[in-house]
Amino acid sequence: MNYGFLIDNSSCIGCHACSTACKSENEVPLGVHRTWVKYVETGRYPDSRRSFQVTRCNHCMNPPCVRICPTGSMYQKDNGIVEFDSDACIGCKACMQACPYDAIHLDPETKTASKCHFCSHRVEVGLEPACVVVCPEHAILAGDLDDPESEIAKKIAKNNVTVRKPEQGTAPKLFYIEGGEIHLSPTAHERTPQMHMFGDVVPLHGGDHVHSDPPVDPKPTGGVAANAHTAVRTPQSQGSPDGGPVQFGGRMAGHMVQVGFNAQHRVQWHWPIAAYIVTKHIAGGIFLFLAATVVGWPAAFSPLAMVSAGALALLMTQITLALLLYDLDRPDRFFYLLVRPQWRSWVARAAWILTGFAALSTVWWGIEAAAWMGWLAPSVAELLRPVLALLTAPFALMTTIYTAFLFAQAEGRDLWQSSHVPLQMAVHAAVFGTAPFVALAPLLDLPAPLVEAATWGFGGALVISLLVTLVADLGIAHASEIAQRAARDITHGRYTLSFWGGGIVLGHIVPFALLISGVPALGTAAFFATALGLFAYSNAFVMAPQDIPNS
Ligand code: SF4
Repeated sequence: MNYGFLIDNSSCIGCHACSTACKSENEVPLGVHRTWVKYVETGRYPDSRRSFQVTRCNHCMNPPCVRICPTGSMYQKDNGIVEFDSDACIGCKACMQACPYDAIHLDPETKTASKCHFCSHRVEVGLEPACVVVCPEHAILAGDLDDPESEIAKKIAKNNVTVRKPEQGTAPKLFYIEGGEIHLSPTAHERTPQMHMFGDVVPLHGGDHVHSDPPVDPKPTGGVAANAHTAVRTPQSQGSPDGGPVQFGGRMAGHMVQVGFNAQHRVQWHWPIAAYIVTKHIAGGIFLFLAATVVGWPAAFSPLAMVSAGALALLMTQITLALLLYDLDRPDRFFYLLVRPQWRSWVARAAWILTGFAALSTVWWGIEAAAWMGWLAPSVAELLRPVLALLTAPFALMTTIYTAFLFAQAEGRDLWQSSHVPLQMAVHAAVFGTAPFVALAPLLDLPAPLVEAATWGFGGALVISLLVTLVADLGIAHASEIAQRAARDITHGRYTLSFWGGGIVLGHIVPFALLISGVPALGTAAFFATALGLFAYSNAFVMAPQDIPNS
């Protein structure tokens, strides 16, 4: 048994019976949709055309939402249906980042992930999904794709069918008859309107809307866009005062293209994710540097440095955990990450890595602090030091770079899957592992070899980090058009200030200049400049790929 859908766009009349029946059958709250009828309008009045495409979860054969879900809340049944369990969801929103089709939303009532589940409760008792039953045109078919005698299998075999974004490798099981590029491609139109035909569009960033560059021609060349509803109701849709072109809609293959109705596309991860990348880099980086001195250069190790910088690292670990908790929509279920982990998920692995790091670094710091305070014989701390350094170092390293693997699992955001991300995170760990010692040097009596090693390490890591950033963001072609768009938004679009002003100038050039000034007191300023600048850079990297709609 392998359930799938077939939707015949040539029969759909855009009546919304399917989406209404879905709402009623599954008690879907206002403002969110498990299935929706996307309206796309093409051409120029009076030669304009409106067409429809019913859109929903594709019940992918290879579902990235299932892989990334840390608690197994999103799962694939033996019959091929991708189902979810609200009771297990912690509201981390990772599945929404992994789905390349905007098929998942957060239920505003339960604060958990929700989507089309093939009316699983009906299918189990031999009934068809509500949308299939209600469609007056028989435009939606559901059935067993593996049964050559089923109606759906026969119709798929007879027709030229398409799927959404086949290049994602998810093997969607929702097939379309007459699914043209204009309907299937989320970037065929220029921008999300400020109002849909049947309701408001929730602002992407709490006030404004998506502005992705169009694939062909950034400026409509004339005429009035086809959609009279949005054209008269949104500021952008008004013609220019001199009666010139409307600044709304996009162009594709010579047609005006704009969306009259679509699913809500929202940014799900905001500044807390960028902030927690920085705080865990500081925490992991400090303990990596301390472990490196213990193993590679014991003369540079200093109990005072361990107690002071280690305390900063422990504080950063606590802030990291607090930010993670803050970002969950069901923080009351945080412990599910530990008690019911789904091990293929990097979110679950991250929870265990962070927990291991927090435990080991606290033990190591506690022993060193006790010896430094005179509560423990220094010889005991010296004896345990290499063992604790070797145990803590791998967790510290993984704490700094696991986000790269987590981002790679978020298959709905192409830019996050760039191959340079693990290297960039490791280099940032080197920056943040050394910078705090340079910052503390003017305030505490740290040994000269340690300060020297940290200063050279900080300077060298800044140079390498700057090179990696420039090459990665400006010098390499990205794997897909969507990744390329997000990268361009960072370097030349909405996030230009964060990239150039924050990431490049404040994050690298200013601290490097302070460092080579030779004034030790400026080391503290160098650390704060790096932290602020790389936060701005991380924020751009987190936000830009989410701006691009997936449906
Ligand atoms: Fe559905 Fe998206 Fe998961 Fe595919 S990745 S099964 S479309 S929710």
